[in-house]
Amino acid sequence: MNAKHLPARLLSVVNHFSETDMKTFTSLAILLLLAVALPQTLVVAQDKAKPEPLKGMAAVYKASELIQEGKPAEAVKVLDAAKGTVPAKEEWKWWQNKGTAHAELCQDDKAIVCYREVLKLNPKGPCRTILATLLQEADLGEEALDVLNKDEDPRYPEHNAILRVIIEGPFKARWPLTWPKLHHRSKGGNYVVISDIGVTDQEMDALEAEAAKLDPNDKLYAQRLAKFHKPHDDLVSAANLMELSRKEFMAFAGISQSRWPKGKRLRVFFFRDQSRFMSFEQECGGRGVSGSVLGYYTPMWRYISLFNQPGGTKVAGNITQGTIETFWHEGWHQTCHIITRRCPLWMNEGIAEFLGYGTCKDRGTNIELGLLVRAKKDSYTGYELVKEMIRLNRFIPFKEFFYYESREWNTDRVSLNYAQAWSIVYFALRGDNELFKKDFCKIFAELCKDRPATEVIPEVIDDKSMAAYEAAWIAYWKRM
Ligand SMILES: [Zn+2]
Repeated sequence: MNAKHLPARLLSVVNHFSETDMKTFTSLAILLLLAVALPQTLVVAQDKAKPEPLKGMAAVYKASELIQEGKPAEAVKVLDAAKGTVPAKEEWKWWQNKGTAHAELCQDDKAIVCYREVLKLNPKGPCRTILATLLQEADLGEEALDVLNKDEDPRYPEHNAILRVIIEGPFKARWPLTWPKLHHRSKGGNYVVISDIGVTDQEMDALEAEAAKLDPNDKLYAQRLAKFHKPHDDLVSAANLMELSRKEFMAFAGISQSRWPKGKRLRVFFFRDQSRFMSFEQECGGRGVSGSVLGYYTPMWRYISLFNQPGGTKVAGNITQGTIETFWHEGWHQTCHIITRRCPLWMNEGIAEFLGYGTCKDRGTNIELGLLVRAKKDSYTGYELVKEMIRLNRFIPFKEFFYYESREWNTDRVSLNYAQAWSIVYFALRGDNELFKKDFCKIFAELCKDRPATEVIPEVIDDKSMAAYEAAWIAYWKRM
């Protein structure tokens, strides 16, 4: 184990993929809501006697309660039925609840409309932070900054400070006129890639100096400035490759594009070198990353940050193999997180690891993910680890492993947990056990309906089948 390094991205997960991180975003909208609706118990008690739809503030209180119970779709119905019945002074509260319900349903476009309305009616409305976050995720950075700068929500100073850093990105301060060159929206529109790949700082400085010579009073100023914003080919290739990978993720998980929140764009910071990658992580409130980490995904802010592995094989544009593999792993987390927050650790990490073994052909226009890689030059593969694990009988029984939470996961055997998770996913998807494959897919589909894993797994796989699947998995890897 000591002679080779573990895959770099494993470490990133310990730092960033914690349960608490995952829950923070969801609770933010609800937290903001609590300030709005207080006397619920009384109102709800009265309401039970009335069969007709609730009106006025009673509906607002009821909706707030439903959201906190995890029933945002019902909350929307209650609010819609009460539209126009709330006294003008309190109408913003109706919008605030509706915005929160839509945000919980991942209907970003609708949530944004509602929250904008809140601020129109009540500039002190407690939704600046959440609105700015959603705008940022829709790549509407200017409006997001405007929302944050018009008034400050005193409850979340640190959160807002980090949000500003993410919106501004790492290049705007140094190149105030030409930074859009390093900020590229992919052709499919699902990614925003912020990257200095393909250009040097000196080239950017020279470009900035040229752009500064333009006359802002010139009628054609905007047009002339836009000429400086053409992205480098390497950045375009990287964004195309990410877009293509996402297509694979979606197809692989059986997710139709219609389930994607309208306007949601995945953000990726992709640095040419490690030092800027590391300092940006600190600016975004990180706790520092180990020198062997190539990239990470942060569920709290939903962005990926990567840097280009020096000296690696180049696969598309300038991206190196190790970096694109890291992207495939973290990219799965990022995509999956938008579709469901219920995926248990073994399944989420197992799929990420599974997709992380892939190849790029034809300069990145053709990819194949989920390969069986038996050995690598400088790190142990999941294959090698799982063979050893089974030989030495050091695996975790399925009936425990399937319910692992981060406390059990992030121990000194974390690398073995990744390997075991990968091997179970590989066995499910590429193995010869059709029943397990069917049950695996059924579990994932149920999780996408926002049902908890602790409920779904025992429902789909009973104890007897669980033991049979484990035995089949052991036999499979002994043969492989
Ligand atoms: Zn991971």
